[in-house]
Amino acid sequence: MAKRNNVEMALNVARTCRDMLGANGVSLEYQTGRHLCNLESVYTYEGTHDIHTLAIGHALTGHAAYR
Ligand SMILES: Cc1cc2nc3c(=O)[nH]c(=O)nc-3n(C[C@H](O)[C@H](O)[C@H](O)COP(=O)(O)OP(=O)(O)OC[C@H]3O[C@@H](n4cnc5c(N)ncnc54)[C@H](O)[C@@H]3O)c2cc1C
Repeated sequence: MAKRNNVEMALNVARTCRDMLGANGVSLEYQTGRHLCNLESVYTYEGTHDIHTLAIGHALTGHAAYR
């Protein structure tokens, strides 16, 4: 739960920074786009965000939606 929430919040902050910089947000001159891509990989490994959501749903309800 901690990893899932932490990474989602960090990605939201990075997306806001990218938005504030406009076109510069995706250029290599600024670090926001690079940081955003890095966070997208963290969003995936050690179990994707979606899988963590499904696992939490399973723990809370006893129903495994992914089966
Ligand atoms: C930068 C990076 C570094 C990594 N380093 C390592 C490492 O050091 N060691 C290691 O072991 N692995 C590593 N990985 C692999 C990583 O753990 C896997 O990419 C991750 O677990 C997701 O597996 P997958 O890519 O096969 O996607 P899949 O499991 O195929 O998932 C694809 C999509 O389908 C969804 N999905 C999958 N199964 C279900 C289901 N049953 N029901 C509903 N939705 C589902 C997922 O949520 C996701 O959205 C790394 C990945 C990245 C990007």
